[in-house]
Amino acid sequence: MPIEIIPIGGYSEVGRNCIAIRADNEVVILDMGLHLERYINYTDSDDFVELSSKKLLEIGAIPDVTLIDDIKDEVKAICVSHAHLDHVGAIPFLGNRFKCPVHGTPFTIEVLKAILRDEKIDLRNELIEHKVNSRFKISKNIEVEFINATHSTPQTVMIAVHTKYGTVLYANDFKLDNHPTLGQKTNYKRLKEMNVKVAITNCLYAHNPARTPSESIAKKMLEDVLLGTNTEGKSIFVTTFSSHLARIKAIIQIAKKLNRKVVFLGRSLSKYADAGEEAGIVKFSKEAEIVRYSSKVRGFLSHLKHPEKNLFVVTGNQGEPKAILSKIVYNGFFKFKPGDMVIFSCQIIPVPIHFENRDKLETALKQKHVRIFRDVHSSGHASREDHRDFFELVKPEHIIPTHGSIERLDSMRDLAIEMGYDEHKVHILSNGQNIFVE
Ligand SMILES: [Zn+2]
Repeated sequence: MPIEIIPIGGYSEVGRNCIAIRADNEVVILDMGLHLERYINYTDSDDFVELSSKKLLEIGAIPDVTLIDDIKDEVKAICVSHAHLDHVGAIPFLGNRFKCPVHGTPFTIEVLKAILRDEKIDLRNELIEHKVNSRFKISKNIEVEFINATHSTPQTVMIAVHTKYGTVLYANDFKLDNHPTLGQKTNYKRLKEMNVKVAITNCLYAHNPARTPSESIAKKMLEDVLLGTNTEGKSIFVTTFSSHLARIKAIIQIAKKLNRKVVFLGRSLSKYADAGEEAGIVKFSKEAEIVRYSSKVRGFLSHLKHPEKNLFVVTGNQGEPKAILSKIVYNGFFKFKPGDMVIFSCQIIPVPIHFENRDKLETALKQKHVRIFRDVHSSGHASREDHRDFFELVKPEHIIPTHGSIERLDSMRDLAIEMGYDEHKVHILSNGQNIFVE
């Protein structure tokens, strides 16, 4: 009996990750994410707004699960690899269509719960937490294993789906970081000992002939900027991805060395910090003051006598118009003085809307004579040479590149062929184009 693989979202496009694995009339869905660009373009917000799943399907912002309508009743589980919205963000809209539980690591489930609470969405699926490096049964014949992997959000896992006919390894978003600053290294031992029939692998940077630097390097870059620059008497704002708890932890540690009090400004920062506390990963509420709502931020900042004694962590690293950093710059939430600092501990997500927003924001900051520090960052995604190491370690029989434009999918195919793979063993798929693997 072959294993059937049904790509649902994220093939030949970046976003709305979702794929179904079927064996013996039992199905497991891996990830159910948002297509953030389409979502933001439509809603004009990077946060959740009330929308029907029908409308979101129409605009392609969520995976087209109608592709598996005929086998809907065979779905035994939805398993989520990590807490990023392009992997978990469609569950609030689509989960109820399936009568099965949602499985994830504690942090991922806590983030999902926070979204559901915020948006008052009633999800009927049972939410089940599993530790990293654990294995559990989801149906009569299928077992799932969560294998710890390093990435830019905590408790990311590669998902191994063990069937009678072989194992499918879903490695969608990871890097091979040997010096992580939060959590453990990728579980190389387990990856090496498994027999993998098919590896479904993120190819976002498969074209980049490099090794992605460790998170500890990003921490050093931050130290270099913050401890190596004269910050005396200057207000400091740092912005990064709210779900990147390792980075935020580094920012807090450096602020201690600067003898500054850390203040988080923005709802999404507080949401991920709370999820991290619930999952027992961090205790940011003991180390930082948290101002959750943007309605309180203006008042908070205007009452501060000595802003230069703080270090502000703010939302809005992509220049999103509704985020705190934009409000600070455009709406007069804070009066910058020449020489104040804004540090972008992130890269621009390469879609036109973000380039536009950031450009506008940086121009406004320059007019205020604020010092800008860009790209103080290391990516959470593996590059070409990491992928080579990964394939050498795992030795999958088949490779399915995912999470990339057609050029990136091709880059991964080139790498596999360079490594000696027969081209029939590398499958470039599009949504709805299922394959059978013997
Ligand atoms: Zn991710």
